[in-house]
Amino acid sequence: MIHFVGAGPGAKDLITVRGQNLLKEADIIIYAGSLVNPGLLDVKKKGCEVHNSAKMTLEEVLSVMVQGEVKKKMTVRLHTGDPSLYGAIQEQMDALEKQDISYDVCPGVSSFCGAAAALQTEYTLPLVSQSVVITRMAGRTPVPERESIQSFAVHQSTMVIFLSTGLLEELQEELMAGGYSAKTPAAIVYKATWPDEKVLRCTVSTLAQTARAEGVVKTALIVVGDVLDGEYGRSELYNPAFTTEFRQGTKEGK
Ligand code: SAH
Repeated sequence: MIHFVGAGPGAKDLITVRGQNLLKEADIIIYAGSLVNPGLLDVKKKGCEVHNSAKMTLEEVLSVMVQGEVKKKMTVRLHTGDPSLYGAIQEQMDALEKQDISYDVCPGVSSFCGAAAALQTEYTLPLVSQSVVITRMAGRTPVPERESIQSFAVHQSTMVIFLSTGLLEELQEELMAGGYSAKTPAAIVYKATWPDEKVLRCTVSTLAQTARAEGVVKTALIVVGDVLDGEYGRSELYNPAFTTEFRQGTKEGK
């Protein structure tokens, strides 16, 4: 059996209990060494075989998994954050399916949640934005044309942009071409939840210069939107006047 496990955004104690239990039981661990905190492997059992996938191809990863299956071993494939986002797990799952190898997925805390915690921000504020766009700039991996940054920027909802720290000049141009004003609040969160985390607040038009000044070139998320600063409406859920399934609203509330 193969378990795909979300490692969380960085801090060793931000993996799920289920994920950590799987790591404790694993005979083989294949971890994404470019971003996964190696400290997570401290719980592994004696004799556990460890592979760093940063130095491996898909074929090599699959070969380790298949050999493990032949020997009836339990394998954990450890991916950064939550594996469903930019995790390249579909191609692994489909290859396992073809060979009739069972697998499951244990979710993880994505880095976009780690970044919200670092910013002490709620991405969905009443009257400001009720949507979060998770996307990236096209780099060596293309992005479908209909999903351009500019087209998402038109909505002026909260945006969290992955994998784009090397393209901030282009990113800020696209955000402004789509409709965000130069003054829209923005943030760069470097290594959210790691000990060397950095939170840099700026505006859409100063993203590139802010990253340059702090020497941030990778492992960062870009957060854009008015939720980072400004006015918002109070939530209905906790408004005394609002009736919910669990609580009767009163006339006095507003
Ligand atoms: N599956 C992961 C994302 C993998 S893509 C997740 O759910 O978070 C790798 C990109 O994620 C990095 O280039 C960076 O943009 C972002 N990232 C991953 N960990 C991060 C962290 N701790 N802080 C900021 N950005 C992070």
